[in-house]
Amino acid sequence: MNRCTDLQERIAQGEPLAASPSSDEQQHLLDCAACAAVAASYSRLDATLRGMRDEVPDGFADRVLARIARERDADPPPRPWLLLALTPVCALIAAGNVAWFVLSSLLPAAGLGSAP
Ligand SMILES: [Zn+2]
Repeated sequence: MNRCTDLQERIAQGEPLAASPSSDEQQHLLDCAACAAVAASYSRLDATLRGMRDEVPDGFADRVLARIARERDADPPPRPWLLLALTPVCALIAAGNVAWFVLSSLLPAAGLGSAP
């Protein structure tokens, strides 16, 4: 990676740069329009994000966790009896379809699903 990429990645990750105006990083920001634009953009973004901070009301986390627990407890329990009841019904339907196919293949004269 080149110097600009490295510096821009450090800026994007919020790593502190050398503060001294005579430092290589600060000198590069003065000489390089691309890196200066990235630094200015992230500086504006950071300022905007700092301005958006709201205080979290007291007890907010406890209320959220309590609501999650209530909704989790309110979920209906799983119904294995429904699966157990539907499995033989599905098996009978599948067996009926297989029987229909076999009979219509073996007995075309009977008119089971084949064209006259
Ligand atoms: Zn640069």
